[in-house]
Amino acid sequence: MIPFATALLAWFDEHGRKDLPWQHPRDAYRVWLSEVMLQQTQVATVIPYFQRFVAALPTLRDLAAAEEDTVLALWSGLGYYRRARFLQRAAQICVEKHHGELPRDFDALSDLPGIGRSTAGAILAQAHGLRFPILDGNVKRVLTRHLGIHGHPGQSAVEKVLWKHADALTPAERTADYTQAIMDLGATVCVRSKPRCDVCPLASDCVAKRDDLTTQLPSAKPSKAVPTRATVMLILRDAQGRVLLERRGPQGVWSGLWSLPEASDHDHAWRAAEALAKIDDAQSLPPFVHVFSHYRLNVEPLLFDEATAHRRIADNSSLRWCSASERAALGLPAPVRTLLQNL
Ligand code: SF4
Repeated sequence: MIPFATALLAWFDEHGRKDLPWQHPRDAYRVWLSEVMLQQTQVATVIPYFQRFVAALPTLRDLAAAEEDTVLALWSGLGYYRRARFLQRAAQICVEKHHGELPRDFDALSDLPGIGRSTAGAILAQAHGLRFPILDGNVKRVLTRHLGIHGHPGQSAVEKVLWKHADALTPAERTADYTQAIMDLGATVCVRSKPRCDVCPLASDCVAKRDDLTTQLPSAKPSKAVPTRATVMLILRDAQGRVLLERRGPQGVWSGLWSLPEASDHDHAWRAAEALAKIDDAQSLPPFVHVFSHYRLNVEPLLFDEATAHRRIADNSSLRWCSASERAALGLPAPVRTLLQNL
């Protein structure tokens, strides 16, 4: 039997991805940024975001010094905005404490906001060739199937077992390539549904393939009902086509982003709209559902056209009237941006 890492590296040499933008150059800042972007998002989606981000903020010091709105605007559409805020906070800590560099020490690196054990391992392995294992979603899928490990990989007991195997399988040589190889295998061959076992370099001793368990592994998360919430979004648009935006508070979903004022129902929406501007009429726009990881949000947009701005909110730091071009430079939640674009 060919050892796991040898088989994987031979496959990588022929089929692995070697032209990803964060591989050229493969420095710690770029690897870190790509790892954080890839945490909840596929490679093909991440690539244009990554390219825009490094074009605007090419170094860690640029990220640390940027306006939060600039960072959120560059992140806008990737979702999970806490990642962007942690990224900037971590960059600022690196400037304050680590001479403007990501530390090479595992403990110091994984102490930074938003950098867990797997991300720290990926940065050290890929940027510096150091031997540290990783365990992201792709790797969990490959290992649970190949080794026949049952139980949801998010459960701590299962995760502990997976870390042990991930560590034991990581080679001392070519660690950067191995790390990319196992992520690539999970993303392109050992995919979630219909894994391509016929072309997999690990097929000869894979438990899931042997026992026909590929649809059962990794084990599903124990199910939990997802709650539903409802909101009315107020679109106050003035005669010049500007829309009133409100910056969300520091807590909760979309925290710190510029969004639309909201109300719990139509009555409250009218009252809120009257407090914000002079209005005459409202038009209900088609409702839509936005799914967060922990709840579904039913959104009912209500358009107040020809609204006239009250002078007293002109300088309010959490409310502002924005034209389409001004909105482009702000961090807006993706569904709100789409809603306004479709007006
Ligand atoms: S043989 Fe199939 S199930 Fe096993 S690791 Fe390869 S792709 Fe995944």
